[in-house]
Amino acid sequence: MPEPLFKVELGKSMADQEAPGHNRWHPDIPAAASTDPGTDFRIECLDWTNGQVGNNDSANDIRDMDLDQNHVLSGPVYVNGAEPGDVLVVDILNMGPFPGADTEWGYTGIFSRQNGGGFLTDHYPDAHKAIWDLRGVHATSRHIPDVRFVGIQHPGLIGCAPSADLLAEWNRREQALIDTNPDRVPPLALPPLANNAILGTLSGSEYDRVAGEGARTVPPREHGGNVDIKNLTIGSRVYFPVYVEGAKLSLGDLHFSQGDGEISFCGAIEMAGYIDLGVDLVKGGMEKYGMNRPQHMPMFQLSHIEPRYSNYLVFEGISVEEDGEQRFMNAHVAFKQACLNAITYLKTCGYTDEQAYILLSAAPIEGRISGIVDIPNVCCSLYIPTEIFERPIFPQDVPTRTPREGNLAMES
Ligand code: ZN
Repeated sequence: MPEPLFKVELGKSMADQEAPGHNRWHPDIPAAASTDPGTDFRIECLDWTNGQVGNNDSANDIRDMDLDQNHVLSGPVYVNGAEPGDVLVVDILNMGPFPGADTEWGYTGIFSRQNGGGFLTDHYPDAHKAIWDLRGVHATSRHIPDVRFVGIQHPGLIGCAPSADLLAEWNRREQALIDTNPDRVPPLALPPLANNAILGTLSGSEYDRVAGEGARTVPPREHGGNVDIKNLTIGSRVYFPVYVEGAKLSLGDLHFSQGDGEISFCGAIEMAGYIDLGVDLVKGGMEKYGMNRPQHMPMFQLSHIEPRYSNYLVFEGISVEEDGEQRFMNAHVAFKQACLNAITYLKTCGYTDEQAYILLSAAPIEGRISGIVDIPNVCCSLYIPTEIFERPIFPQDVPTRTPREGNLAMES
């Protein structure tokens, strides 16, 4: 087991840890630890909500969640010798929930429309929650019967600190979007917010300044951040652009499993746990690897680890709204329709709307853009591995064309 570089105590806020982490992005949040390139280390993480969700049978904690605390991140880790323009190579070596009966669980939530919402919040506006038991590589839930699947564990959120210029650009463009409809519920984007900002060891006027400028952690951005890519799993190698001295790598939001799209927003199997990483440095790597265009993002080499599911039931969706409005080449609408079609089908198999919604969000579902050129409709598709169900899930009562009885032909 690699040396822990960042430790957490469960039940304590990220602000009160021995070395506190953070929940905003800013280049001036002080490093919580440092390491040399060429080393492996362990990072411990709280769940993304700072421990606000309990292993119980009520969704009130999801409904009443203080979103201002999210996401709590471990770090930043200062990598000695890293400079702007370098590429930080990060190997994801291992990860998991903290071992023990009290800690090997996770949760998936549907946020209420009034407090966060989600991809299908117009259809499912009320808070719901499923608790998952994590046993080895498998997840099961007392709240969603007859389902058992293999998780693809990954950090939902990982990236290096932005430079002051990059941060200013994020704040500029996101505020411009918010200004187009400032009263929208849920909001179009989240501006910097001092309330419940956790900024490492900063205090006094420096805390106030950084809290007033620090970007919220919700969206993915050029540095990676909250990309929620399920395949960023154990065995992956990620190439991160470096924007500040020491790179200042931070991460959190560990997921035991997630479907493509993480549609319910609190949509993975969220957990506290540990992750083992190795870091290396490529000097001048951004230029070398063509990562200098303004909208560049990290890239990664895919792990060889993936659940071996081979039977899928696939749902399709096009860019037409539920009320029949034709949208032009809109992948967001097309994927929504694929999800709604899948949920409607799963209801015929005995699941409730919200059980199906959470299942599509948390299980290893594949989501694809199948066609994005055929005007006016994008076609998105959603692949559900049928082996995750312990009840019949393929369409039943299809007339069979295969003879069911008979004997071998014999000579006369
Ligand atoms: Zn998450």
